[in-house]
Amino acid sequence: MIDPEDYRVPPLNWSQVDGKADWLRGALRMTDTPYIDVVRVVETIICNQLELSEFQVWSKAAMGDCEGQTCPQGTFIRFREDVYEKACNDDYRARFTFAHELGHFLLHQNAPMARASRTDGTPAYMLAEPQANRFAATLLMPKLHIFSGDEASDLKSRFGVSWDAASHRLSDLKKKGEI
Ligand SMILES: [Zn+2]
Repeated sequence: MIDPEDYRVPPLNWSQVDGKADWLRGALRMTDTPYIDVVRVVETIICNQLELSEFQVWSKAAMGDCEGQTCPQGTFIRFREDVYEKACNDDYRARFTFAHELGHFLLHQNAPMARASRTDGTPAYMLAEPQANRFAATLLMPKLHIFSGDEASDLKSRFGVSWDAASHRLSDLKKKGEI
């Protein structure tokens, strides 16, 4: 769930989060595939085949502003119906929401959580939302498939992400001298 309210969770540095996303790609045998079908990963593989969680689609009336929600114990991964439909049709924002919830599922299952926010001085690496966003960015846009000279528009079409997500990922990799 994308919310200004956040939860303090055990710290993970970004290379640990990246490691989890890369590990998942490897486990799914999707390391060589730039564009992943993230709905299939969550609904078909994680929930229906591996039965690690229950996939739920709820109405707009029931979920309101919440686009996706993952049970803190991992019992369910839930999406708003319009977000599910959009993600099935390769909508970039909805795809990111799927990857974000998958991040919560893998990083925060049964994690001790305390209410916190970005504005109270808690660093991003100790907050659930930035961790889930980082996971989503790395899962959808693995470094392996990003090259020097790439522009945000290249990432957008290669990975099925929004321009904002693409340019954020690129600037982060450039800042660290990784591309
Ligand atoms: Zn979230």
